[in-house]
Amino acid sequence: MNLKNNIGRVLLELLYPGRCPVCDGILAFGEGRIHKHCTKVLQKVGPVYCLKCGRPIYREEDAFCRHCREEKHDFDSGVSVYMYRGEMKASIYRFKYGNRQEYAAYYGRELAKAIAARRDMRTAGLIVPVPLYSEKLLQRGFNQAQLLAQEVSALLKIPMKPDLVRRVRATTAQKELGAYERRKNLKKAFKIGQDDVELDSIIVVDDIFTTGSTIDGVARVLKEAGAKKVYAATLAIGVSKD
Ligand SMILES: [Zn+2]
Ligand SMILES: [Zn+2]
Repeated sequence: MNLKNNIGRVLLELLYPGRCPVCDGILAFGEGRIHKHCTKVLQKVGPVYCLKCGRPIYREEDAFCRHCREEKHDFDSGVSVYMYRGEMKASIYRFKYGNRQEYAAYYGRELAKAIAARRDMRTAGLIVPVPLYSEKLLQRGFNQAQLLAQEVSALLKIPMKPDLVRRVRATTAQKELGAYERRKNLKKAFKIGQDDVELDSIIVVDDIFTTGSTIDGVARVLKEAGAKKVYAATLAIGVSKD
């Protein structure tokens, strides 16, 4: 980085101090992207996780979580940094609906670290964020998945294509639907923007993984277009007790 850029960055930080993604408090100059004591608040996914979706597993003898024993996924395997509960839930809410785009810097770095630790994923050729439906994008002004994907792309030096997959249908109120309906609803939600995907492996990035049906929808169109491996990388994952 040259001197001019450095001065610009310092001025920016002085004029607009960032906020901590955990407590939303102001960060002091030079404090970085998060309060040091706040890094311990968020719960990370431990070393024992489902080989398919990346959800934490509580009985070490299990290779797959309950969900993946019952249901198939269209992506090959997944990684997630945090458990989606407590402070993490509140933080993602502010990130998306409270215009805290700055959280992406810290979270993107954590996600990049998690991807880099996975031998199957770190050699992927492309990163694709889960797209938002156009109306939603206009409303919110940004796509949180794309902000995360941008950080990951820059850190891991893997190119990102935000327009490769398009969301052609609104899929709101997914929460009220059952698993089957959710799947059906998402089946036609995505379209590929390019017919021939000459890439072996693609990482799909999103903020939250709950049932996995959204990433499945994206993975399906990528595979139909020729991708051989599709991975799921999310900031936080829903956790069940067993
Ligand atoms: Zn804090
Ligand atoms: Zn699983």
